[in-house]
Amino acid sequence: MGHEIATLDLPPALLWPLVVVLGLCLGSFLNVVITRVPVMLMQGWRAEAREALELETEDTPRFNLLTPASQCPACGNPIAWHDNVPVIGYLKRRGRCAQCGTRISPQYPLVEVAGAALTVAVVAIHGPNLASLFLIGACLTLLALAVIDFRTQLLPDMMTLPLLWAGLLYQLLFQPLMLHSAVIGAMAGYLVLWSFYWLFKLVTGKEGMGYGDFKLLAALGAWLGWQQLPLLLLLSAGVGALVGIAIQLALPRLRGAPMPFGPYLAMAGWIALLAGAPLIAWYQGLLI
Ligand SMILES: [Zn+2]
Repeated sequence: MGHEIATLDLPPALLWPLVVVLGLCLGSFLNVVITRVPVMLMQGWRAEAREALELETEDTPRFNLLTPASQCPACGNPIAWHDNVPVIGYLKRRGRCAQCGTRISPQYPLVEVAGAALTVAVVAIHGPNLASLFLIGACLTLLALAVIDFRTQLLPDMMTLPLLWAGLLYQLLFQPLMLHSAVIGAMAGYLVLWSFYWLFKLVTGKEGMGYGDFKLLAALGAWLGWQQLPLLLLLSAGVGALVGIAIQLALPRLRGAPMPFGPYLAMAGWIALLAGAPLIAWYQGLLI
């Protein structure tokens, strides 16, 4: 790149444990985001609907990313800090609440491990520098979006839109020559899926995907540039088809259930953000 980037100079024996712990802690925070953001959205929509219908406002308990402190979803007892340590807390309690013994979803340790794996991968490929912090933010936001979309079929604007703006800021700060391609990537990413959506709706009368998918591809276009949009769509369709076939074979009861597109877009985004330059070179080789 030839661009001056602040690099963290640490011996590997210190750097990697630090990166792993950072990834686990960020993963732990993602679990809070994944569990609470959909609830916060629903509460907001209910409040708006009641206001529009001129009904009395409900006295729902305050709920945001910071309050209340982590609690068991079954009994509501607060979780002690030493049971809340990423992965270790889950293993220590064998995946059960310390108070009531209810099973706690394996989503928690899985997201923590995935957060650590993505953080390590970014630093291993792109180096311990400021640009990598941005890339870690992007990869982990994609992780949260993938799990939220999988669980609730929502891709919250409060996450897809900041991801888009952060992508443009990343280009402006670290690769200003890419800014042009990033702006076109954001616009084209939105328009491509928006056009698919309306075409599909006109032909079949059904809605194949949602507006959140358009915004997510727009965000990926900002991070990766318009040249990578065909590759992103190919990758997500490819991964989607493989997972779809696997589900058909392994879990026939899920046959015909709506499958969100967001997780596949997120996976394609990880591959492109992590494997970047060599992947593009290979892909361009295929075209020529
Ligand atoms: Zn409990």
